[in-house]
Amino acid sequence: MSALPALAEPAPSAIVKPSLAGLTRAELGDALRALGLPERELRMRASQLWHWIYFRGAGGFFEMLNISKGLREQLDAAFSLALPEVACEQVSSDGTRKWLLRLAQTTASAKPAEIECVYIPESDRGTLCVSSQVGCTLNCSFCHTGTQKLVRNLTTAEIAGQVMVARRRLGDFPGLERPTDGLVPSGEGGRAVSNIVFMGMGEPLYNIDNVMAAVDVLADGDGLAISKRRITVSTSGVAPQIERLGAECGPMLAISLHAVRDSLRDELVPLNRKYPIAKLLQACRDYPGASNARRITFEYVMLKGVNDSTADAKALVRLLKGVPAKINLIPFNPWPGAPYECSDWETIERFSDIVFDAGYASPVRTPRGRDILAACGQLKSETEKLRARARLAAE
Ligand code: SAH
Ligand code: SF4
Repeated sequence: MSALPALAEPAPSAIVKPSLAGLTRAELGDALRALGLPERELRMRASQLWHWIYFRGAGGFFEMLNISKGLREQLDAAFSLALPEVACEQVSSDGTRKWLLRLAQTTASAKPAEIECVYIPESDRGTLCVSSQVGCTLNCSFCHTGTQKLVRNLTTAEIAGQVMVARRRLGDFPGLERPTDGLVPSGEGGRAVSNIVFMGMGEPLYNIDNVMAAVDVLADGDGLAISKRRITVSTSGVAPQIERLGAECGPMLAISLHAVRDSLRDELVPLNRKYPIAKLLQACRDYPGASNARRITFEYVMLKGVNDSTADAKALVRLLKGVPAKINLIPFNPWPGAPYECSDWETIERFSDIVFDAGYASPVRTPRGRDILAACGQLKSETEKLRARARLAAE
């Protein structure tokens, strides 16, 4: 593992010019309107900006040579193209990268916030795991993110900005170099970032408007062009919002199921008390666009002696009957003070065989980036420890 640069105390973020990077087309139009551009020019100018920001990954307005010098100057005086700042980058021995991103402070009273974002390279694809909130309000008992105090929704720009940061760091925009310190695969179209999963910090469906707008920014064919079939939104089960996600946006859906009985799921995923399993599965059956070719992924974290028996595996298969499903078994990733252990490997295999024999693909998710605490549910922990260590060292 390598960490660069050394983690420092966060400087009180300066209040900066608003950034246009990460905005929707409508928001770009509004920004141009605020500069006094005539209404008839707005669409065309917004499209030009869109191309420069999302297709070329421009770092400044003066690169935008097909925009008049006067307008470039006006844009530069009023706005920036800043992205969330990389406060720390860690590269795991398996090529996984974790970025600690510091968000710009937009008002004097806003609390400085940080999020984490993880890149997972595989031979044929590169997956970026993005956050939708700072922290999470939901307190699932096996997840470390839920224990974090500060929680707020990310803006559309902060969500899309994570993908822009990754593309810049990985040399994924025209004219940039690939880093040489780790495995960076070429996915679809030769891209390092080919897939997006909303499996970082936060519950995406508690921030559904900004998440859907960000998915539309990422999927836009004239810009970042990541197909919605390669974007997966994972939810712990906010049943009433699932229909909207499918009807208005249409990304792939993943459900953090983790238990087959309400009594146990109430404990692991407390949101289950509000939206129990039957209600959640009905929302899945009704998910617009779900089919055998576009299956819903059910995530199931393997907790030793808690949810990993053969009876649980059989019940899982029965439960998902009639739902176009894939099952993703996730070995539990421990964090300091966690009240669970990961199931034994033989137990996971036995569970996986039962699911497989019932006709489901049941890949066991290989834990990635464990040496940098970048695996599912570990986000935010190590950074806090590192910062405490950096503070001690400074003292
Ligand atoms: N809040 C959303 C998305 C983020 S969590 C959700 O819960 O779906 C992404 C996935 O990581 C979820 O399936 C979550 O249950 C799982 N997860 C959380 N903590 C984990 C841990 N310690 N080990 C393994 N998986 C974990
Ligand atoms: Fe929040 Fe998901 Fe963690 Fe539950 S598993 S606390 S919903 S981030």
